[in-house]
Amino acid sequence: MASSSASTASSATVLPAVLQKQKRSRYSLTDFSFNRTLGTGSFGRVHLVQSIHNKRHYAVKVLLKEKVVRLKQVEHTNNEREMLTRARHPFLVNLWGTFQDSLNLYMVMDFVAGGELFSLLRKSGRFPNPVAKFYAAEVSMAIDYLHSINIIYRDLKPENILIAADGHIKVTDFGFAKYVPDLTYTLCGTPDYLAPEVIQQKGYNKSVDWYSVGILIFEMLAGYPPFYIEPSAQGAGGHVQLYEKIIAGVVHYPPFFDTLAVDIIRNCLTTDLSKRYGNMKYGSKDIFGHQWFAEVGWEKIYKKEIPPPFVPKIEGEGDSSQFDRYPEADISTYGSAGFDPYAHLFAEWS
Ligand code: AMP
Repeated sequence: MASSSASTASSATVLPAVLQKQKRSRYSLTDFSFNRTLGTGSFGRVHLVQSIHNKRHYAVKVLLKEKVVRLKQVEHTNNEREMLTRARHPFLVNLWGTFQDSLNLYMVMDFVAGGELFSLLRKSGRFPNPVAKFYAAEVSMAIDYLHSINIIYRDLKPENILIAADGHIKVTDFGFAKYVPDLTYTLCGTPDYLAPEVIQQKGYNKSVDWYSVGILIFEMLAGYPPFYIEPSAQGAGGHVQLYEKIIAGVVHYPPFFDTLAVDIIRNCLTTDLSKRYGNMKYGSKDIFGHQWFAEVGWEKIYKKEIPPPFVPKIEGEGDSSQFDRYPEADISTYGSAGFDPYAHLFAEWS
């Protein structure tokens, strides 16, 4: 375990009560000891850390500013911080605070100990109908909540759905989440899960998330997504082939799929936006009221009263054994205090 080198020391001075409130949400590197990598993203990595104060474990996402700028992700990264700050829901990861140094941005989140739904799905091959339904129900509630506060999530996929120690889900990675009361145009997301209107760079709205719920349900039931290209065809040109399939929208449903599951998936994946579930007159009610979910008590789902199909074996609060191993990074630059040419771009990151 590597201990963080500090730029700003956390003060032990006793502050007036009114300032203590503010102080509680402010963090710096010296508040944590850094542990292993839990996962990597395009612009940084997520570490398991332990608070030196309350000894609890957290996940800290570290983003290299230079990379964020080079890959033109400044707006997305600032959106991620802002959207996560606004959102509070039982099935969304909680952001405790952010901080920065001259090189990196840091987001302090709940450590969600059960690992990725992706890993569970790959280990299981595919999920039985009730298992897929349970996860789809919790995910749909999270998506619907985000839409209710005008946030489009835009990156739903099994890698971003984490399983908490109690077996319930937490959606993480708000890297593409955005406040969008009406339409947006940016091409972003993960290829297998992109809605046709995103690829075609038409203006699109929240219904892209319901499209990806359809892809997710298919992938959970089949063990593979409805549109994919063989690994040998990946690389240059590969995405073009994939995008053509997505736009054509021809889905082959395995014969073992529940017929109601086929129906809800088909209604989420339709390329005709005037017929896509979640995007019609009754909005998400068409999803929640669909026959595939007939036996689901939504109130009970929200209150986590439905027993999860899988409860991870977690030994102690900081047990990260459910996560794959990644090559570790040199973290000696964490806490750098040099000149920061990008400071003006990330002014909100206290
Ligand atoms: P991200 O860059 O946000 O997609 O995160 C990359 C990976 O880090 C995820 O796919 C998870 O495996 C892991 N991860 C992200 N956030 C958390 C968290 N709050 N708790 C545990 N692991 C996380």
